[in-house]
Amino acid sequence: MVHENLLDDDWLMLSGIQHYSYCPRQFAIIHMEQIFEDNIFTIKGHHIHEKVDIEDDTVCGDGVVVASALPLWSDKLRLIGRADRVEFRNGVPYPVEFKSGYRKEKIHDALQLCAQAMCLEEMTGIPVTVGAIYYYSSRRRLEVVFDNNMREKVTEIVLKMRQLLSKGTLPAPPNDQRCVDCSLIRVCLPELAGHAERFKNLLQELYDRGTA
Ligand code: SF4
Repeated sequence: MVHENLLDDDWLMLSGIQHYSYCPRQFAIIHMEQIFEDNIFTIKGHHIHEKVDIEDDTVCGDGVVVASALPLWSDKLRLIGRADRVEFRNGVPYPVEFKSGYRKEKIHDALQLCAQAMCLEEMTGIPVTVGAIYYYSSRRRLEVVFDNNMREKVTEIVLKMRQLLSKGTLPAPPNDQRCVDCSLIRVCLPELAGHAERFKNLLQELYDRGTA
């Protein structure tokens, strides 16, 4: 099924929720500059997704129908993407996202899953209150409940993503622990960019003093 308005250019990729919540600069590099680099974590992630990206539906037992690589969208949020897997449990959607690594609560993974649930609710008209993240290294699921706080956070992030894209400038790097595991560290150059940002602020401060 093809959504009739998908050719409009203000749609955002659902994956951007995870990127933005991890680091707004990472989101901007990927979705504004269209740059993506792999590291060991992303390569593992691609490998896992290849295993689940089989575009067919499988009928399971116990009233569960599984849809893999299911296209998703939300007209309200103007988001598009795909769910790794949606289990329709007696007709109720239950999204499952596959991640590399070990089972661990990560808010950015949960927010991406929540955005999928919000899309599914809009597409099916059925409330989607819970889903799961499957962590491949530990072969375990982490169940996520989509409460109001999480839904509000998703909506807020979508708004911030749009603001950042319309501003068109890269945010300053946080230059913290997040950068250590980030596949974009070689293109982002957080330390250098951090110095440049401080230099720019210093120049601005000097200019402001001179004109005061
Ligand atoms: S290297 Fe750090 S600042 Fe740069 S995109 Fe990654 S997490 Fe963000």
